[in-house]
Amino acid sequence: MPIIGIDDTDSKTEMCTTYLTIEILKNSNLDLVGYPNLVRLNPNIPLKTRGNAAISMTLGRGEGDRTVIGKIGDEPIFSYEWYTEEKMDIDVMSLIERFSPKDEDTNPALVIGSERNDENFYWDAVREYVDYENVIGRIKGEFMTVNGQIGLVGANAAISWPGINNTFELIAYLGKESWGGDHFVDDASSMRIEQSYPDTFDSFDFNNDYNAIRPTTKTPVLFGIRGINPAGLIKYGSDVKSEPYHSYIVYRTNQGTDDHLVERSIGESKLYNSSIIRGFVSSEPLWARGGILSFDITNKGENIRVVAMEPTKEFRNTLSKLRKGDEVRVYGGITKAGIINVEKIQLISVSSVIEIRPPICPNCGTRMESVGKNGGFRCRKCGARSKTGEVKKEEREISPGFYEAPIIARRHLARPLKLGIVK
Ligand SMILES: [Zn+2]
Repeated sequence: MPIIGIDDTDSKTEMCTTYLTIEILKNSNLDLVGYPNLVRLNPNIPLKTRGNAAISMTLGRGEGDRTVIGKIGDEPIFSYEWYTEEKMDIDVMSLIERFSPKDEDTNPALVIGSERNDENFYWDAVREYVDYENVIGRIKGEFMTVNGQIGLVGANAAISWPGINNTFELIAYLGKESWGGDHFVDDASSMRIEQSYPDTFDSFDFNNDYNAIRPTTKTPVLFGIRGINPAGLIKYGSDVKSEPYHSYIVYRTNQGTDDHLVERSIGESKLYNSSIIRGFVSSEPLWARGGILSFDITNKGENIRVVAMEPTKEFRNTLSKLRKGDEVRVYGGITKAGIINVEKIQLISVSSVIEIRPPICPNCGTRMESVGKNGGFRCRKCGARSKTGEVKKEEREISPGFYEAPIIARRHLARPLKLGIVK
């Protein structure tokens, strides 16, 4: 039976759904099969708590090879290759209730099944708006909820994730007695991971002096290191200088996969979608109050506004170098009708921006002046005339290629350029 999906056990300021993995493994006598999964869902849905993360795991009587993928206290956590089915031996729901904050926006949900669910459910939950009222008919197995059923979307999505595109994250947790307050994770350790290990991502943002392995809210998480090589993560984790932690485990995750993005035309991109939209820049980038940069793109008579908010920092400066006529592919989320919040951009080709100004007079060397529209140019000093002006091409400060929001503003699902383009 036990394939477990859990979602929405945290609030904006407390807990972290992933921590339940530790509590379940600590309390159950069953073995963990494969990696636990950390699944991020549609980042544009406003109902989300912090990171829109759900978890799933398979438990049973472990068989085959086993690998250490974490520790609880001094006890190793083994992951088994395969398993024989066992009945769930603990009351997972009471653990969830014990650890979830009693907050109106926290809507914990648990799904327990004996098989993975249809992957289409996952694709809907990571790319579309799924109404929780329509979820129940699509769940295979038992489910339980507290405080409403919104959490069922994530819990069911987590056991529907096919996991084909994946990365990993090692998460280290504080013991319950030390949750809350400030915690020590050495910036230098995070910098070293960012600089030295190309199989990791989103650890330290040097431009913005931001240590991204450390959470910014009160949670059981002391640090999390993202990467593509689980054995590497365990080694890098053991090198992090920090205050003591109680447990750690490596998750398989859909972070950094761009799973949320679908290539769509402007007209097909609906509210809450994440899209890749191809088009031509149709208005010069403009700065607005609050450090918001925006410009329009157009394709086949349709138009959408591309917006980069203040938290995207220096990415806005890059985007401000775009000019009318540039051909681009914009990766981002439709958070308001007619607006795409840009995560990443491919500049396919730059337009030749041409400015025509009065030429220098060949007789006397002064700059001529324009004689109105279509009137050509005339020298004020000697009266010479010219039909053609001086053509000046703007020296472009940006060249074709990919550009992305910095780590400090990057979404969990967004694939960092350092991992290579998949879409
Ligand atoms: Zn002249």
